Amino acid sequence: MTNRFSGKVAIVTGSSNGIGRATAILFAQEGAKVTITGRNAQRLEETKQEILKSGIPEDHVLAITTDITQEEGQDEIINETIEKFGRLDILVNNAGAAFMDDKRTSGVDQDISVFDKIMQINLRSVVTLTQKAKKYLVEAKGEIVNVSSIGAGPQAQPKFIHYALSKAALDQYTRSAAIDLIQHGVRVNSVSPGVVATGFGEAMGMTAEMDRKYFNFLESHKDCIPCGSIGKPIDIAHIIAFLADRKLSSYIIGQSIVADGGSTLVMGMQAHNMMDILKS
Ligand code: NDP
Repeated sequence: MTNRFSGKVAIVTGSSNGIGRATAILFAQEGAKVTITGRNAQRLEETKQEILKSGIPEDHVLAITTDITQEEGQDEIINETIEKFGRLDILVNNAGAAFMDDKRTSGVDQDISVFDKIMQINLRSVVTLTQKAKKYLVEAKGEIVNVSSIGAGPQAQPKFIHYALSKAALDQYTRSAAIDLIQHGVRVNSVSPGVVATGFGEAMGMTAEMDRKYFNFLESHKDCIPCGSIGKPIDIAHIIAFLADRKLSSYIIGQSIVADGGSTLVMGMQAHNMMDILKS
């Protein structure tokens, strides 16, 4: 355990579960004061307890139960953080989700209400929270790390078109905001995870059994995940910490680091041996 974030204040959105929880715990363990947030109070409390278990003082953690798609919720997150900790150095825009419509439609027919809901959480809330945080991040010459997805492309995502669109737009936001904000000394970068075992499936209506079945399939198919294992939240948290650590990543501006066990580097045709095909 290092104290590389000692004296820094971080907001990690979506820290009541998954990647955000692992990131908030890691930041706190490495010395940051952290604001954790999500809608589910019980899960948020679990994150807080995990942080306290590492011996971190309670006054290093601020838990705010709120809906981040609502402007009042965002104001609460920013204002209470400044009130309690007096500054803001790191904003991790991690909260996100994919949804299905009632008929579990995929492809272009997916109901437009799904598009609206996904854009609201995965894109609009990042844009508005960044606006609200800008003043404080400029004061601190701070860092923003967005959590994107390999779903952003360049490969097509016919089953989850709207989710993929939201993350593709987020990537362009990362690049453009990075150039706008670096003139004020604020860095913006992002991470693009592949498949990670989190509450993401459950939030989409999948059972734990469905999650396990899906993960088992992916892990046993090298054309899906060449490294043979599903990502863990801490794998992504370490990359977020790297991008938030100016000593290590100061020259990276507006980029997204892909962490996917190799998924995006394989093409379906590579799963088959050319010589075997020719022999048969
Ligand atoms: P989880 O479902 O485990 O975590 C999502 C977090 O976002 C939860 O803390 C949830 O809190 C929060 N959240 C969702 N909606 C809202 C809302 N309206 N208001 C406030 N908080 C909200 O999923 P992950 O950890 O996997 O997701 C984190 C990020 O990683 C997302 O942006 C996702 O798109 C991205 N990602 C995930 C991948 C994966 O395979 N898991 C792959 C690629 C990217 P609560 O429910 O308490 O509101």
